[in-house]
Formats: sequence, C-alpha cells, structure tokens
Amino acid sequence: MEIEKKKTKYIFITGGVLSSLGKGLAAAAIGALLECRGLTITMQKLDPYINVDPGTMNPFQHGEVYVTDDGAETDLDLGHYERYTSAKLGQKHNFTSGRIYHSVITKERRGEYNGGTVQVIPHITDEIKKAIHGLEGEADVAIVEIGGTIGDIEGQPFIEAIRQFRLDVGRADTLFIHVTWVPYLKTAGEVKTKPTQHSVKELRAIGIQPDILLCRTAVELNKGLKQKISLFCNVPTDAVITARDVDTIYEVPLHFHNEGLDTKILELLGVWTGAPKIEPWQELVRKLKAPMHKVTIAIIGKYVDLTESYKSLHESLVHGGVANDSQVDLVYINAEELESGDVDELLADVHGILVPGGFGKRGVEGKILAITYAREKKIPFFGICLGMQMAVVEFARNVAGMSKANSAEFDKDSKAQVIYLMKEWFDPRTGVTHVRDEESDIGGTMRLGSYPCEITKKTFADKAYGCKKIDERHRHRFEFNPEFRDKLEKKGLVISGTSADNNLVEIVEIADHPWFLACQFHPEFKSRPMTPHPLFRDFIKAGLEYAGKE
Ligand code: GLN
Repeated sequence: MEIEKKKTKYIFITGGVLSSLGKGLAAAAIGALLECRGLTITMQKLDPYINVDPGTMNPFQHGEVYVTDDGAETDLDLGHYERYTSAKLGQKHNFTSGRIYHSVITKERRGEYNGGTVQVIPHITDEIKKAIHGLEGEADVAIVEIGGTIGDIEGQPFIEAIRQFRLDVGRADTLFIHVTWVPYLKTAGEVKTKPTQHSVKELRAIGIQPDILLCRTAVELNKGLKQKISLFCNVPTDAVITARDVDTIYEVPLHFHNEGLDTKILELLGVWTGAPKIEPWQELVRKLKAPMHKVTIAIIGKYVDLTESYKSLHESLVHGGVANDSQVDLVYINAEELESGDVDELLADVHGILVPGGFGKRGVEGKILAITYAREKKIPFFGICLGMQMAVVEFARNVAGMSKANSAEFDKDSKAQVIYLMKEWFDPRTGVTHVRDEESDIGGTMRLGSYPCEITKKTFADKAYGCKKIDERHRHRFEFNPEFRDKLEKKGLVISGTSADNNLVEIVEIADHPWFLACQFHPEFKSRPMTPHPLFRDFIKAGLEYAGKE
C-alpha cells in the first residue's frame, strides 16, 4: 500500500527595515509553537547572497557555519531551527542565490533550455520555486525564511518567487509573515511606525500583502498602536503581533503564544488542532531564569569579538547549564592575547576551559598554552575539533617529549605531525572512499556531516553517553595521525572514541584529571535545550565541582 503523502502548507517569512531583527529565531519559534500544537514541520532558509554555500565564508562576517547530518554547510539559522524544533535538516533546507544560479547556468550549458533566452523570470524564479516544492510532503507545515531585508537587490528574485508560489499553490495553503521594526525614540518618547509602513509598502509593490506582522520592539505595543499599524499596512489588528525583546531567546515561543500568534496562523491556514502543549518551554524558561548555581567558562578562540561565530557552542553551554541547574557565564578570551599575556592571570577565575574549532595558524600557540594550563592545574577541559587537535599536540610536546609535534596544518615539514592530512578516508554512510591532498580546494574536501563513533568503556565519554555507538557531526580536513597512536597512548593519552574500523581517532582524554576530553567532531550541532548534549552536560558538571572546590 502506498503511504499517502502529506499535503504541506507553506509559511513564508520575510524581513523589513533592517537586519538582525531575529527573523531566524522568530521562524524557529513559530516552528516550535506549531509542534506544540501537534503538527509536523519542516524549515528552509533561502539566502540571497552569491556564495554557493556558507562553507567558505568568514565567520567574522557571516557567523558560524552550521553543519547538518548530511554534511551540508549551512547558514546559522538552521541551527536555531534544529534547536527549537525536531525538524531534520540538510542540503535541501538551505539554498543561496549562488546555488540557484549555479544550477540554472549548468542546465543552460547542457542545452536544457533549448536555445531559449535564460532570464531571472521565469528561469531563476522557477528554480527557486522548485527548491521550495522540494519540501512538499515532508511535513504538515513548511516554514520558509527569506534572508536579507525587503528592498535588497539580491533578494528580489526570491520575493518574486514566493509571490508566484502563492498564485500557483493557492491562498489557503500559504501565509506571508513579515518581521519588521518599530523603534522607540527616546527624544520623542514614543514608538514610530513609519519604517514598518514603508517596509510593507515595498512588499506590496512587489505584489505581496503580508498576512501577519511581527513587530520587533523594546516596549509592548498598545491597542492604539496596533490599530495604527493595521490601518496603514492593511493587516487586521489581531494579526499585528508584538515581538518584544526578551531575557532569554527560549522565551520567544512563549511570548508569541501569549500574543496569540499560533492561533492566528492556524486560523489563517485553516488548520484545526487541540490546545498547544507549551509546558516544556515554560519549564525551560523557568530553569533558565532562576538557576541554583553559577559557573564561569573560558572560550579560547579567534573570533572572540563576535559571539555569532560560536552560536551553537554558546547555546550548547547554556543547555549544559540547564541540565545542571546552573547559570553559565562565558568569557571569550582571544587566543593571541594568551601568547603575549599572563596565562595565570587571564585564566585565574574560570572553572572550565574550552578550546573550540577553528582554521588557520593565528592564535594556535595561545590555545596550546591554555590547554597546558588546564591539564596541569586540573581545570575541566573540553576541546572541540581544532581544540582536540591542539590537545593532542600539547600532550605530544609536553607529556610525550616530542617538542616539534604539530599539526600538518601549521607545520608542513614537521617530522612529528601528530595531526596529519589523511589522503584517503572511507565514508561508511555512502561506501565512498574520499581522496584529497595538500592542493585540494578548501571547499568540498572536508570530512563533513554525521559519522559513527564507538566509545571505549570506563572513560569520560562512556560516562557521558552511556552507550557504545554514537553519531556526531564533523567539519575538518586534518586527523589524528595513527603513526603516533601507540606512543601517545603509552604516555597516558586515552583514546575513548574511534571509527568502527578503529582507523580514525574521534575522542581523546586524560584519565588522571577531573575532566579532560577532546573530540574531533562538533557536539555543539546536536545539543537541544530540552535534551542537552551529554558532553556539555558533563563538562559543566565538572566545572561546577571545580568551582565548589575552590
Ligand atoms: N582546521 C582543522 C581542520 O581542518 C580543524 C577544523 C575545525 O576545527 N572545524 O582539520
């Protein structure tokens, strides 16, 4: 018997006035609320920039690259989507202009347009609509967020495509939500609706009448203001929703619910559900707002000025805090500062040290200094990806006496490349053997996405996961060099996680330490507020125990 595919309804989310209004979070929160209503949801981000994917983009400019199970390097908003909902996302949930154009131009070169003139309308817009239709049948509701702000030149084909999409699919199955800004002007002592009016005017000029407005404000919008926005923007008053600034981002779904947003969405989409089960979110916010304990964690990184580049990491630490009823205070320390500064002083008041992933030489010696400090002073240590590689280098240099030990990424000629470039590796998911060398492009030659790992008994990893087989997401080119495995193990490095064939080292530890664990994968991509990742949970726990000891 053929299983009947679900008829999917589509919610499109656009942004107005300016960026950074929290459109991605709003989309994720809507997803969460609809799941609380018992609906299944999926999510997609359409990004107007020309890069084919964010994989090669500088995190300084664009924030973290979020990696999915299938190895897609995506926009960080997909991280919000996966954290707030149970949607399983991948390649088909993030498209950029670059990717859309790439596929249209490839078709043109192959002669698939039969010599016709290839144009933005209909060819690019058709390709965009095809990407959106790719979600059909996946869930009851697909939430599609358009990156950028109305009026951006690059974004126009996407806006045009969603206008056409509603025409194709029908009004009953589509909804337009516009996230806008209602600033509070101190000098005037009032909030201003004009930017919102302009933004909606611009949307309407393209042919889109928003059904719901999410007005980002610092203050509550009263009835009179909502009526004014309603009148000028042609949106019913009860569809003008306040998106007020909140203390924790996990409060957003609750706030939207109190504003009646989920009820309004279901009414407009013609969907009936029972009352929402929002208790888990209430419980989460309660825990976040009144924690019993407090712990300070240092993150030793390169992009320290921009917490956006460590988004998932930051959230995972917060989740680890929730699991331990603890507030987690994060101090971002620039690794380069450690090289020239006083390590003791810079790390004096922290209860845990975390060295996250990263690329490039800048700051790596500072990271190694922080690792030595954590190892010697027995401060809980958590290394992730580059952090794991540097923990291995640190151990090789300072415990195993290999003073020239390094990663091939930073010393091409070292005879002690404890971290090396693996020329070939097997992907058990696809059965494909990947090949690369020093000359390979940086895009597309990384070990990406979810890979299985087997855990060694009686280790920190075993204690945390409590099971033998796990899957975690990767994004790196370099690996632990098996040539040095015996030597390092003899000196006390514990290998607590490997690939099933035992060729790839995935987790290392130091046993004679309260908690010292470093993993080649990125656990931060799989932590959820309701189900904190076990490694973050145990790292924070160790930090609290250390704090208690002080
Ligand atoms: N630069 C290292 C590598 O490519 C680590 C990457 C990372 O931390 N994500 O292997």
